Amino acid sequence: MNAVLAYEDVRKSYGTTVALSGVSLDVREGEIFGLLGPNGAGKTTLIRIGLDILRPDSGRVLLFGHPLQRDGLDRVSYLPEERGLYRKVKVLDTLEYFARLKGLTKKDARARSEAWLEKVGLAHVAKRNVETLSKGMSQKIQIASALLSDPELCVLDEPFSGLDPVAVDLVKQLLRERRAAGRTTILSTHQMSQVEALCDRLAVIHAGQRVVYGALRDVRRAHSTPVVRVRIEGELPELPGLLRVTEDRDLLELHLAPGTSPSDVLEALVAAKVRVHHFEEVLATMEEIFLRAVRGESAPMEAA
Ligand code: ADP
Repeated sequence: MNAVLAYEDVRKSYGTTVALSGVSLDVREGEIFGLLGPNGAGKTTLIRIGLDILRPDSGRVLLFGHPLQRDGLDRVSYLPEERGLYRKVKVLDTLEYFARLKGLTKKDARARSEAWLEKVGLAHVAKRNVETLSKGMSQKIQIASALLSDPELCVLDEPFSGLDPVAVDLVKQLLRERRAAGRTTILSTHQMSQVEALCDRLAVIHAGQRVVYGALRDVRRAHSTPVVRVRIEGELPELPGLLRVTEDRDLLELHLAPGTSPSDVLEALVAAKVRVHHFEEVLATMEEIFLRAVRGESAPMEAA
């Protein structure tokens, strides 16, 4: 898989404040990549360096396989956390302006803007001034402005803030559509449930360092003690690596010795001719992983 954006040992200080102390990571083509970390971790600095808004003190950044250059940046869009729209401009004109910035012709920019207003359910406010929009509407317009040029790479910083559940669902759908079309998205958010729902791979940055990195499933598995949740008929047979059993409503939680794989347990259940109605591997949540990583409670864990 090609890296759309690659950081190699990137360092950056502001005076005596070290913002990044040697970060390497790849964002791969067609994925939704989660960039996570507490406030002040260095995420914005990392994004700005990747988009050539800031220069690193040392290290290397490759965008679409090349050192940063103008025509690479035309294929990228960025929705920063600190953002705003011109208040006295009409909604449709606002979107057209962003589309023109990305090199679309006037005609295409108009057509694309109208289509995106439909897409985010705001066609009825096309002629209104931005200042008359509610917070959620304005947020949807900003997301549309970042996505309407169909950029190969889009960086979205907290795109869900201020959105109601219906709008959150819409934005998730838009991001999944991007992925289905092979487009790459970097998602920076504190909303761990959205990370679990959307991200293919992720990094947690803490104090200028990458402390967790890898595929979502691998990261969750690497940070989990093996537990499976089952519902079966009859008695529990002898099982490999079973340490203890707890009950959670009508489910049994089987706590396994490190190194025991859930599939060993499933095989043993099937071999003992037990009827299995439910079988689920219980994984650490991203919230737990995030908190442990930034509190330094677990050794930096890497899942390739
Ligand atoms: P995040 O986006 O994860 O909140 P930032 O990249 O904004 O983190 O900041 C990383 C560190 O660099 C913080 O300690 C922050 O205070 C510092 N920092 C960021 N921008 C500047 C700046 N322009 N001047 C001085 N310090 C800065």
